[in-house]
Amino acid sequence: MALLEVKNLGISFGGLRAVDRFEVEIKKGQLYGLIGPNGSGKTTVFNMLTGVYKPTDGIIKLDGEDLVGKKTIEINKAGIARTFQNIRLFSQQSVLDNVKIGLHNQYKYSALTGILRLPKYRKMERKMNEKAMELLKVFELDDKADFLASNLPYGEQRKLEIARALATNPKLLLLDEPLSNLDAKLRLSMRVEIKRLQKKLGITTLFVTHDQEECFSISDKVAVMNGGVIEQYDTPENIYRRPATEFVARFIGFENFLDVEKKADHLYVLSDGTAFKTAMDLDGGEYAATIRPDDIRLADDKFSENVLRGKVGVRTFLGKSYQYEVETAAGVLKVNMGTDHVFKEGDMLRLYLPEDKLILVRR
Ligand code: ADP
Ligand code: MG
Repeated sequence: MALLEVKNLGISFGGLRAVDRFEVEIKKGQLYGLIGPNGSGKTTVFNMLTGVYKPTDGIIKLDGEDLVGKKTIEINKAGIARTFQNIRLFSQQSVLDNVKIGLHNQYKYSALTGILRLPKYRKMERKMNEKAMELLKVFELDDKADFLASNLPYGEQRKLEIARALATNPKLLLLDEPLSNLDAKLRLSMRVEIKRLQKKLGITTLFVTHDQEECFSISDKVAVMNGGVIEQYDTPENIYRRPATEFVARFIGFENFLDVEKKADHLYVLSDGTAFKTAMDLDGGEYAATIRPDDIRLADDKFSENVLRGKVGVRTFLGKSYQYEVETAAGVLKVNMGTDHVFKEGDMLRLYLPEDKLILVRR
């Protein structure tokens, strides 16, 4: 059974449909990525999962328990912990105390217990300290347990936030852009670290980002959002190989979109009659054929199918390859080719678009 089951989730703010028909099933122990440009509804989904917003429609079930029907969701008790897009720490409290706050619920600690110094207080305090230090060790923050939270560097504040969220012992951890605003190097090392911790602790995680590489590199499964709607929900490998829509394709680096019409199954033509065989096939609706710049090759003389003639325009150097803009009957195509041979502006090329690399996407 799925740990989290979301069906037909939607919310409107006045006339704006911020999230619509959002559906995911989330299995225990996996890391799920939620990706989409700014304003596509990612944070709003988190706000609905945590009871900040009441959905206009839909069902949210965590471990079989309905969360939408409840008057208020106490997210800690429901078993959800989250971090926020903008860091929210108790900045004037110590690193240790920030994590301990996450433990209060589990240890049934109340302010009263603390103020009255009830006998059970000391024991509880000791246990919470131990537990918090354990977590800080995992995040390599134990040396800084006494620091004020606000005195930690930004990256460590991000870690502390996650440590505090984990202290609540959640069934589901929601991370909202936890790596944004980090410099590139730290981003890279932190994302590996998050993945390692997630696997080690077996914590089911939903990870929001707008960075494609980051999302695809660590997620077991990814939901790509656009305008409040999930355009594709699949493994990173499947999305990468077979983006379902033009939006998703653009998001993951497809740049060439050809207007084609279906002539027969697995056979598509440009308006000038140039025909392309494709390994995949689509029925009905509006679509385009797309191919990555890396997947276009030069046609050998013996090739006659899936060939397009074109004239070289602008050339840019990408390190491992050159990228050429090539003017063809299908418009300007971007083509990456090795550096052994350099073409110059005006050169005529015969391009080969392999049928298994030519992907049909919905528009
Ligand atoms: P993301 O996190 O993907 O960048 P958000 O979920 O924050 O996007 O926002 C999705 C859309 O919902 C945006 O157009 C945003 O302006 C709108 N929105 C979010 N919260 C509210 C709100 N409380 N009132 C009105 N509009 C909102
Ligand atoms: Mg957001």
